[in-house]
Amino acid sequence: MPLLIKGGEIVTGTEHYIADIYCEHERITQIDRNIDAPSGVEVIDASGKYVFPGFIDPHVHIYLPFMGTFSKDTYETASKAALVGGTTTMIEMVCPSRDMSAAEGFRLWQEQAAGKSACDYTYHMGVTRFDDENAAQLREIVASGIASFKIFLAYKGAFGIDDTELYHTLKLAKELGVIVTAHCENETLVAERQKELLAAGLTGPEQHEASRPPVVEAEGVHHLMTFAELTGAHVYIVHLSCEEALRAALAARFRGVNVSVETLIQYLLLDKTDAERPEFEGAKYVMSPPLRDKRNQPVLWNGLQSGEIQTVATDHAPFDFREQKPMGRDDFTKIPNGIPSLEERVKLLFSHGVKAGKLDLHTFVNVASTNAAKTFGLFPRKGAIQIGADADLVIYDPEYRGTISAKTQMMNVDYSAFEGWEFQGRAETVTMRGEVAVRDGKFVGTVGRGQMLRRQPAHF
Ligand SMILES: [Zn+2]
Repeated sequence: MPLLIKGGEIVTGTEHYIADIYCEHERITQIDRNIDAPSGVEVIDASGKYVFPGFIDPHVHIYLPFMGTFSKDTYETASKAALVGGTTTMIEMVCPSRDMSAAEGFRLWQEQAAGKSACDYTYHMGVTRFDDENAAQLREIVASGIASFKIFLAYKGAFGIDDTELYHTLKLAKELGVIVTAHCENETLVAERQKELLAAGLTGPEQHEASRPPVVEAEGVHHLMTFAELTGAHVYIVHLSCEEALRAALAARFRGVNVSVETLIQYLLLDKTDAERPEFEGAKYVMSPPLRDKRNQPVLWNGLQSGEIQTVATDHAPFDFREQKPMGRDDFTKIPNGIPSLEERVKLLFSHGVKAGKLDLHTFVNVASTNAAKTFGLFPRKGAIQIGADADLVIYDPEYRGTISAKTQMMNVDYSAFEGWEFQGRAETVTMRGEVAVRDGKFVGTVGRGQMLRRQPAHF
């Protein structure tokens, strides 16, 4: 059924104005003042509300075999949680183990999603091994519509690659016009620090940050920047957490390195004292890079507002507090890493960014949607409100007030890192390619309607 969204204040990365939006055949077909509703059209009153382009989370894990267990969400639970939170597109990391070929990994990850997602999705293809066989397969995967890679400078032996592989991955990416997203931490330093702490009897979750301090992340960033400078590849630093790492990225950008930067909602709002909570509760707050000293938060907020940092993601990776985090009760290095946030990213960014005066509305839209669409080859199909764009729209009530709780969340995990946090504003109605997927904050969409989005690399 065609949709007419009437009287909302349309806010994109560059403009804001009041107009009606007509959607037909999954797309936006008209934007104008006072569009009349033909019969048979569903009309949604958006007066007094914002209308944003559907939000994009450019870094999530849904299917994730990791540290001896599996993350909890399925495509069904994750995509519902995403939509309820205003996110209409997710980009998942394909993370094959090193003994698995790229083709096998890509197939396995697609099987998890096929027919089960309520929102659209695409992938960053994990390069966890680089040899001739994998390189040939990576070319085919790129040709099939996956225009970004993911590499790990951390997790050696699991997903991590060595410097020879890094060099050749970036050269291939440069040749194909593919952007390379990278987890930047010096794995050797992490491993040695972990051994020292454990040997000293320091085993709790609060030790996680000490095992991978800011300089370890900054070294990882500088390391990647050196390889990017030599190869000319476009790189994207995932989950940047601290000032030291940002400085390393900005220094490289100043030298002409083509680098984009992502931070996470967790780093903007949580800090390392959360991982110090007693009774092992700190384990809820273990992820990598770790939550940092609070001094970094204004640096990250300013970096977003000034354009130094391009995107806010979640690195969503849900592991239960009761059954899974305790795998590391006596050894913090065995705590499954991740702070689930897919559902809460947009409302937290709006409450603590826009409402708190740290982000203007356009920057909010850019860092939560449009910049990811542009960086990863989805714009203007996604991340835009214009004729011809997919009708992924978020009608946002800026005055709504609520409280976050694991009891009411859609994410399939037994805790919320933001339990009891109050927020202001929410996605009231969400459309996904012209179908209403959320009404009055509740999921009413269709599981299986989500499509895998195919993206062209920059050189095609
Ligand atoms: Zn990740």
